[in-house]
Amino acid sequence: MIQERKKELTAYVQGLEKAELHIHIEGAAPADVWSKIAKRNGLPSPNQDVALAQRTVSSRDLAGFLGSYTRLTRMLLTELDFYDLMYSYFLSANQQNIGHVEVFFDTQSYRNFGLDPEMVIKGLGRALDEWCQKLGMTGSLILCFLRNLPVDQAYMDLELAQNYKQWIVAVGLAAHETGHPPTLFAPVYQKARNLGFKTVAHAGEDGPPEYVWSVLNDLEVDRIDHGGASIQDPKLVAEIARRKIPLTMCPISNVRMGVVQSLELHPFRRLMQAGVRVTINSDNPAYFGSLIDNYVDTALALDLGQDELSAIARTSIEASFKQ
Ligand SMILES: [Zn+2]
Repeated sequence: MIQERKKELTAYVQGLEKAELHIHIEGAAPADVWSKIAKRNGLPSPNQDVALAQRTVSSRDLAGFLGSYTRLTRMLLTELDFYDLMYSYFLSANQQNIGHVEVFFDTQSYRNFGLDPEMVIKGLGRALDEWCQKLGMTGSLILCFLRNLPVDQAYMDLELAQNYKQWIVAVGLAAHETGHPPTLFAPVYQKARNLGFKTVAHAGEDGPPEYVWSVLNDLEVDRIDHGGASIQDPKLVAEIARRKIPLTMCPISNVRMGVVQSLELHPFRRLMQAGVRVTINSDNPAYFGSLIDNYVDTALALDLGQDELSAIARTSIEASFKQ
């Protein structure tokens, strides 16, 4: 019975016109892409780290997951490596009938390993141009600042981003929230807005509702990434709904990362019922399932019907920064 329902929902979601607005490019690459990159760069097989990342994420061992994830990203050395990450994600998005994508990346991790940040941007951007055209899709990049690293580096990144506005549409804020309040980034967000960038920020994933208030009021974001912790503060939920700020939620990620106990307990539906513009996304699809998996599993756990799924897909397009 449940298998039948799953099959039916999968076909339905496949047919929906939809956008993906919360996906980190390094977390989208499947094992074969990492193997190809390792081989090309003369590095040992990454299979052990890919398997470890899969295993640690299902046992909610966050430190273990992040360790193997970081080791994988260190294999990225050339523009072509970044091109390949993007290209493989585009093929998967196209298979899922995703018409528009907005992809997170950062340059700070790579800059700090000694790579040229412009090489990272060019590899991703070149793939974006080529594959949007080949597959009839649209897409853009969102440059994330890492909240655990110095704000000075965020200014350097913003400076660089100005030269790549054909690809970079917005700036974001990523990495673990706890102990890293968003307020520190208020001046750099102000500058980004003045330069014409849209703004988003991860908040209320592992951080408290106060951080969500802060990205609303101090960073003045156009969208909030995750935002699940808002459910703890009814005034905050009402304010997000009133301002019509969309949330890019990632239900399976939240369960696997241990910030929500189960999909059945996920605040997605409650936020939707409170009038918040919620969207469904995969976050890191190689580890948390595809976008379609996220739609279907969330629908099954929270009893969402076809009309609701269709409304969520519509919101994803309306909440995008597509011109
Ligand atoms: Zn994320």
